Amino acid sequence: MLNLCDVKTMKALLEEAGFHFSKSKGQNFLIADWVPGRIAEESGADAASGVLEIGPGFGALTQQLCLRAGKVVAVEVDRSLRPVLDRTVGSFENLEILFADALQLDLADLTRERFAGLRPLACANLPYYITSPVLTKLLESKAFAAVTVMVQKEVAQRICAAPGTADYSAFTVFCQYHAIPEILFDVPPSCFLPQPKVTSAVLTLKTRTEPPCRITDEALFFRVVRAAFAQRRKTLPNALAAGFPEMTKDALTELIVSCGHKPTVRGETLSIPEFAALANRLAE
Ligand code: SAM
Repeated sequence: MLNLCDVKTMKALLEEAGFHFSKSKGQNFLIADWVPGRIAEESGADAASGVLEIGPGFGALTQQLCLRAGKVVAVEVDRSLRPVLDRTVGSFENLEILFADALQLDLADLTRERFAGLRPLACANLPYYITSPVLTKLLESKAFAAVTVMVQKEVAQRICAAPGTADYSAFTVFCQYHAIPEILFDVPPSCFLPQPKVTSAVLTLKTRTEPPCRITDEALFFRVVRAAFAQRRKTLPNALAAGFPEMTKDALTELIVSCGHKPTVRGETLSIPEFAALANRLAE
């Protein structure tokens, strides 16, 4: 089996295919052989699971997933990697490579069609420029039991942040509403070719089968969250007044106080159950 983290092999195969790294596609390939095996192991991939990988690149993580999973579907946007992937992972019978933009796919349909009878998982070393839209799509699809991804360390910290901290954001609430995130380990820039400027971290998100608390209207809940963080320096009544122009600030203040908060509270200090209580009162 080829060592896909060997820089000499990688450079030779990429050159042979006339491949050039694209910064705009977030192409930083793994060259530290402890990393892809550990990510694949942490993903929970086994013979009973079907794994969706986004961005196989040179195939180092794909290879490790194929060694463990029942089936792997790898989606790669860069068609110039076709001859490379044929050489590096083309011999795996449990692998299907789709050359497409992952953001354009219907992931619920894809998992239903490709992973029948298997436990669907997602695993990827994500291209940095589309981390949030890809994670949003993976979680909103409600199609995966777990999502294990490498992202910028700052993004991983934001996803796992606690209420009241600088990292806590609308995206934190979104991720923690859909899943239970946990940072597993850091990966330094020296583990990639070319080297990124920032440290990365591997994060696993175990998706929830039930929401973390009772929510009457999910769309309204997220509207409240977005409004609260859109103006995070403002007090919650002011932030919500900007996001809910159909309501008066007095009515919003009353609602916030009736949920047990001071009128001076900032949205960034509210936990998910507190946002839910507010949205449920608003729905009434
Ligand atoms: N998995 C490889 C590894 O770990 O070495 C490569 C990871 S590299 C950070 C990200 C990969 O995602 C690249 O191969 C890039 O071409 C691919 N990619 C970028 N945008 C994509 C998109 N919208 N859909 C699918 N793949 C994409």
